[in-house]
Amino acid sequence: MLGKNSKCLVCGSKVTAEIQGLFDTRFGIKNVWNIGRCIDCGLEQTIPTPSSEELKKLYETFYNFGGEKGTFYTRLRARFLSSVFYRVWLAIDGDVSFHSVKGSGRLLDIGCNEGRGLQIHRANGFEAEGLELNEVAVEEARAKGLTVYAEAVEDFQPEQPYAVVVLSNVLEHSLDPRNMLYHVQRILKPGGKVWISCPNSRSWLRYVFGRYWINWHVPFHIVHFSPEALKRLLQDAGFSVDHIAHKTPALWVAHSIISFLFSKPGHMNRYLRSPFLVASLMLVIRFVLFPLLWLGNLSGHGDCLVVRAKTQR
Ligand SMILES: [Zn+2]
Repeated sequence: MLGKNSKCLVCGSKVTAEIQGLFDTRFGIKNVWNIGRCIDCGLEQTIPTPSSEELKKLYETFYNFGGEKGTFYTRLRARFLSSVFYRVWLAIDGDVSFHSVKGSGRLLDIGCNEGRGLQIHRANGFEAEGLELNEVAVEEARAKGLTVYAEAVEDFQPEQPYAVVVLSNVLEHSLDPRNMLYHVQRILKPGGKVWISCPNSRSWLRYVFGRYWINWHVPFHIVHFSPEALKRLLQDAGFSVDHIAHKTPALWVAHSIISFLFSKPGHMNRYLRSPFLVASLMLVIRFVLFPLLWLGNLSGHGDCLVVRAKTQR
């Protein structure tokens, strides 16, 4: 089932089959994918790996601004994110987007979409700018007065280096995460920091939900990081890792449950966008199941890795 030429995207070693027969539980894209595991560095990756042209088409068709704008769900989300309730929720649920970190200096949010996070980073004291490849999202962000460049980090030549680069649920989408981190390092000033969040491939929820675990997110998630694999990759790219925290956002658990209950191959799962179902599940998960989430985080098997590292220059 693995392609003839399946090689680890990070170290180039051989990849063996780990899980077979995954399908897209969100949008119903018709295909089957597998998860391969590198025999050398242990990194897991989605196979077959889509080409960059295929990915571009998929993002334009299904993702974010390509797929959804001005719906009841997105309006409700926008209102919630700008409210005080969001701050309180982050304190209780865990912040996997670095939205509660205050500070100063130049900050670059890679994959900033239409700039929801940029506005929050600015309110927190940073001179925040963004990179985004989705042109519709870039226009939307610029209309709000935000500075957003429509470039990939690999091609980006900023006038001044940054103090902080944010990769919030971005690195796992990359076809070449090693190269991406190399370029992040290039645009940071000496001692600059990178803040990364991504799903944890060692999450206990992966074993509970199996093929329905929401964070497989094939074919959009290309690499699946364990804490060890991510730490090694960061060190190879010239970073020293300050801290790896485990968080389990109630939203992600709610999405895994909805995926398990309602996702069928070839069909879009509309329940994932049902505000009332998602919100009620989130409240039950956060306030009833919290001991499980807490134990998962404490044992190093949380659903999300939240990493802070700095350049060794
Ligand atoms: Zn490898």
